[in-house]
Amino acid sequence: MLRVSEPTLGAEECAALADVIERAWITMGPRVSAFEEAFAVAQGCSHAVAVSSCTAGLHLSLVALGIGPGDEVLVPAMTFVATASSVLHAGASPVFVDIASLSTPVMSLADAERRLTPRTRAILLVHFAGYVVDRDAWTAFARTHDLILIEDAAHAAGNPAAGTCGAAAIFSFYGNKNMTTAEGGMIVTEDARLADALRRRRAHGLTSTGFERLNGRSPNYDVTCLGFNYRMDELRAAMGLAQLRHLAGWNRRRRRLTALYRVHLRDEAPGVIMPFADLPAREDVESACHIMPVVLPAEASREDVMRRLLADGVQTTIHYPPCHLLSFYRSREPDVALPLAEEFGRRELTLPLHPGLDPADVAHVCRSLAGALRAVRTDRRELSDAMAG
Ligand SMILES: *Cc1c(COP(=O)(O)O)cnc(C)c1O
Repeated sequence: MLRVSEPTLGAEECAALADVIERAWITMGPRVSAFEEAFAVAQGCSHAVAVSSCTAGLHLSLVALGIGPGDEVLVPAMTFVATASSVLHAGASPVFVDIASLSTPVMSLADAERRLTPRTRAILLVHFAGYVVDRDAWTAFARTHDLILIEDAAHAAGNPAAGTCGAAAIFSFYGNKNMTTAEGGMIVTEDARLADALRRRRAHGLTSTGFERLNGRSPNYDVTCLGFNYRMDELRAAMGLAQLRHLAGWNRRRRRLTALYRVHLRDEAPGVIMPFADLPAREDVESACHIMPVVLPAEASREDVMRRLLADGVQTTIHYPPCHLLSFYRSREPDVALPLAEEFGRRELTLPLHPGLDPADVAHVCRSLAGALRAVRTDRRELSDAMAG
């Protein structure tokens, strides 16, 4: 079975985990610091703060940036639910924004502008599929309207453009992301004071860490703000260090496989839209290529296509059901209509993409998809012929 995503794990991760166990300091300590430093260097950022998940990091960043009750935050409807739920947890309101187009399924600047109100305080930009699109335009938009720009970079670890436009950018190391610590996340920022605030708030608002107290550096502590327990631990950090060493190579492989998908699909499945295939060269070559989304022809039944691909040993998924249509958000705001995100949500199909695939796998997926689309068309024709006859 060719899976949509698959972590690359092996002897290095085993050795890293065993080493932590042998040293017997398992909670946040020197390995977390080393992972933060290495990630900041790899991502080209000044400060990195490790957290227990990207969702925790989004919540922590919003709170530390002073976003709360009464504030509105612009979020794309085409994202994972954590983008919106972190805004609600901070006490603010997410305002869903449509996507730019089916071929560029990221937050639309024009629609964002329409949804501004006097209460809009921030924008939570999602680097969908690992592409950082229109960075300069978003920076200018935030400056013009005096908004705080925050990057949900869950898809974009290793993209050098991620973390370069927001007050903070938050990465995910969940098991299906480009690098993983099973659960985990990282916040990067250029602002030293924000980094300090994030460090303090991730650990109960304490002025010192357990590791510092044990090592006699500061026996006492005070609590100076309302904090959380959003710490990362040494096991995850050790695994993260091992994974990070391979990230650039894995992302190169993802880009090569993506390029190959585009060549095959252009030839073999002409009715299929390939998002991000027409981006400016720089935005394309820097992509972390987290997933391989395609948009099926409007008349094709996605369920049938998915079933046929599965029979050929190809797993597929959907990124995403639009957030504003999920029951919880629907019941809060029944009238939100975002036609492009809804159409994308109906027609999108995510094909397998991870460094464990080879060119023959990509060829197989494309052949299988082309065959499924032909079969679905034939079925429809026979059905309509039968009905006409
Ligand atoms: C995975 C993901 C998250 C949440 O990451 P966790 O580390 O699982 O909390 C947030 N936003 C997006 C866009 C994601 O894909």
